[in-house]
Amino acid sequence: MIKVDQEKCIGCGLCAGLCPETFQMNADGKSIVIKDQVTDCAKDAAEQCPVSVITVK
Ligand code: SF4
Repeated sequence: MIKVDQEKCIGCGLCAGLCPETFQMNADGKSIVIKDQVTDCAKDAAEQCPVSVITVK
């Protein structure tokens, strides 16, 4: 399961850049999960998110 806490997402775009099949930026500049599947790049994005608001489990 992959989740983004959109309240705390700062909209840096890193996750969508690293893992575009999983994350996309919405019209408000927040990350949304478009494919709820745990992949290596989704894990990388969770590790590298500067505000640690991505949960992957
Ligand atoms: S890496 Fe984190 S802060 Fe940056 S857009 Fe993705 S969820 Fe938001």
